[in-house]
Amino acid sequence: MKLDLQNNLRKHKRPFLIAGPCSVESEEQMMAVAKGIAETKPALIRGGIWKPRTRPDSFEGVGAIGLPWLVNAGKEIGVPVTTEVANAKHVEAALKAGVDVLWIGARTTVNPFAVQEIADAIQGTDITVMVKNPINPDLMLWIGAFERLQKAGIQDLVAIHRGFSVYNHPRYRNVPNWEIPIGLTEEMPNIPVICDPSHISGRRDGLLNVAQKAMDLNFAGLMIETHNNPDKAWSDAQQQITPVQLKELLNQLVLRKADV
Ligand code: PEP
Ligand code: MN
Repeated sequence: MKLDLQNNLRKHKRPFLIAGPCSVESEEQMMAVAKGIAETKPALIRGGIWKPRTRPDSFEGVGAIGLPWLVNAGKEIGVPVTTEVANAKHVEAALKAGVDVLWIGARTTVNPFAVQEIADAIQGTDITVMVKNPINPDLMLWIGAFERLQKAGIQDLVAIHRGFSVYNHPRYRNVPNWEIPIGLTEEMPNIPVICDPSHISGRRDGLLNVAQKAMDLNFAGLMIETHNNPDKAWSDAQQQITPVQLKELLNQLVLRKADV
């Protein structure tokens, strides 16, 4: 499916919103989150099926069994769904299950072999692919990932800015380095950029600030991790918010005068 993201703010008077949990945990959880966020009218529901965790004993995602939970939750409220893919097997399973949009995670964008494998697996479909920035602050690696997808004939591409890894930062889980997503827009003006304040901030109380900055910089939208019971989430518990908190956050955002 094609996402119409160019000039989204101006056209719809609100950011293009992707909401949903860090990880798909169960059928009930996905249904609860979807029903909870329906009122905020997300353009896409997110849910991680395969989770790239730093250490091996962390929860690594429910796997393919969770794909219908995600897809059905989207159908319940009439909103398309997206999940992270990191290899050809993931692509095949996600497409077969009816996932509408795919995204490539920050730990995959750093690896040209993995990006190429995904591009080859997607070739010949008309699926939209969102590409998170690489975890290290390397604009060319991000651009290279888009070029690989474009060479495979994938035309509907979206960038997600999720910040960059640093050791022990006092404020951010991943520092924003705003000049990098801005540089991407200069180099590839046709690729809309969405901001992911959840992974930049790493904590609930930092989300609004980062989201506001993204709006001030004219980003096309926001991806915000939303969970029915954030404190009990199986991954990224500290940064997830409830659907009610999501609604409050969106109400607090000040949109650019030119867009509303
Ligand atoms: C996620 O979106 O849950 C995730 C793992 O993100 P990133 O690739 O940005 O770390
Ligand atoms: Mn997460």
